[in-house]
Amino acid sequence: MSHHCHATDCRVSTPPEMFMCRRHWFSLPKPMRDEIWRTYRPGQCDDWQISKAYSEAAKAAVRFIAAKEGREPDVSVYEMLEP
Ligand SMILES: [Zn+2]
Repeated sequence: MSHHCHATDCRVSTPPEMFMCRRHWFSLPKPMRDEIWRTYRPGQCDDWQISKAYSEAAKAAVRFIAAKEGREPDVSVYEMLEP
């Protein structure tokens, strides 16, 4: 499965271990980036098992970018995967 940036409506391809494309990733505040790395588990993109903490961190980041870009944030994938 191809992997792309998790920002809403962004279709830039990224390596699976990268949460967002460079541009979006570096527009997140540092504490948000740290929180995503802290809660990320290698392999979660393959088995779709994410932690509640990761889901919260990811949703916060997606909402942050969407608000900045004036979009409706799409966090449905996290709501679907949330344990
Ligand atoms: Zn992006």
